[in-house]
Amino acid sequence: MSCLFCNIIAGEIPAEIKFQDELVIAFSDINPQAPVHLLIIPRLHVENAAELAVKSPAALIAVFAAADQLAKSEGLTGYRTIFNTGADAGQSVFHAHLHLMGGRGLAWPPG
Ligand code: AMP
Ligand code: ZN
Repeated sequence: MSCLFCNIIAGEIPAEIKFQDELVIAFSDINPQAPVHLLIIPRLHVENAAELAVKSPAALIAVFAAADQLAKSEGLTGYRTIFNTGADAGQSVFHAHLHLMGGRGLAWPPG
């Protein structure tokens, strides 16, 4: 099985890594939609957040802990975290990833 984000974890595809520990890796989104736009992913290959919650609750918690730590280190005073689930919601990479966005005003509701 070929997975873009598994390849980033393996170091086979370059990425601007911002954080990593035994459970998660965070890197810059290649097509940022905000001044700060990072992706936090579990090392475990699962399709989406719900599957991650079932297979590794600890990794799901670690993803959110890393997001908050990164938001602080990036100096964000507020931020948005998003898991897209399914193509209809805009998911294009089927390895669970949490978007962390901030550094500009973020409208609600999102598009
Ligand atoms: P989603 O549409 O929620 O599945 O998000 C996938 C995200 O991955 C998009 O925001 C893309 O810009 C981002 N992306 C795709 N390829 C890469 C890559 N090689 N390095 C970093 N981010 C990527
Ligand atoms: Zn994967």
